[in-house]
Amino acid sequence: MKLKIAIQKSGRLYEDSVKLLKDCGIDLKNGVNKLKTESDNFPMEIYFLRDDDIPQYVEDAVADIGIVGENVLLEKNKKAEIVEQLGFGKCRLSVAVGRGEKYDGVQFLEGKKIATTYPVLVQRYLDTHKINAEIHEISGSVEIAPGIGLADAIVDLVSSGSTLFMNGLKEVETVLKSQAVLIRNAQLGAAQQEILDKLLFRIRAVKKARNNKYVLLNAPNDQLEEIIRLLPGMKSPTVLPLAEPGWSSVHSVLSENEFWDIIEKLKSAGAQGILVVPIEKMII
Ligand code: ATP
Ligand code: ZN
Repeated sequence: MKLKIAIQKSGRLYEDSVKLLKDCGIDLKNGVNKLKTESDNFPMEIYFLRDDDIPQYVEDAVADIGIVGENVLLEKNKKAEIVEQLGFGKCRLSVAVGRGEKYDGVQFLEGKKIATTYPVLVQRYLDTHKINAEIHEISGSVEIAPGIGLADAIVDLVSSGSTLFMNGLKEVETVLKSQAVLIRNAQLGAAQQEILDKLLFRIRAVKKARNNKYVLLNAPNDQLEEIIRLLPGMKSPTVLPLAEPGWSSVHSVLSENEFWDIIEKLKSAGAQGILVVPIEKMII
């Protein structure tokens, strides 16, 4: 019995999807056949597909699970359940208009032409805002549509915003925030579910590790109490005496988002020789 997973064949999600499996200890055979491969050390078969097709394949149980952007899943409206947010492929689906336009709120879109590759999500957005507009579905290079007179506004995926900027557009509304998600077929068999649970356990350990750093530092003993107070740690930090009298070595775990803030406080509290080390897996 193998768990069949569908991932993007090439594109923005491909590398991070393969890396996630690798970090979960799942080695992929370098098959000649780039459509399908399997793992040597985990009961898994991997299908490489266009991201747009992944929700359908998972709904039809051709694949048991898949990795796809939440934006694609919602646009396709297929019966597949999200099991985990994966923390990569982050982007937003945004409304953009020409930089010269006087944009004064969503009402701007009333009666306008909007170019997008996401007609379903755009229609839903317009409906919730009670706006009538004409949607032009196009399959790519949406950002050039206003410039060539095809549309008054676009709805497209944005991460840094530099593509919009280069095309003389400005981002004015966010329709949806998205990231890569792990999805599963709604009626997964017990055996597949068991393998999925194993995979999920590993994915969560990898995600935790990615969000945390291991920190080692030297602290003068008279400052030890204050330094320990600054460290959240998993339980409490490890404190070991140094060979030099009056000093200790302190080990702890810091999360990425509080990291810089705490490091600065540790320094001003007298910590020295601060080492920050990546964590490979974290199981708590
Ligand atoms: P495919 O050939 O598989 O159909 P694609 O061209 O439709 O690929 P990509 O551009 O590779 O898709 O993007 C895949 C996913 O990556 C998007 O659906 C989205 O979830 C995510 N993504 C993250 N940042 C961006 C971005 N700046 N622009 C587009 N997609 C992004
Ligand atoms: Zn696509």
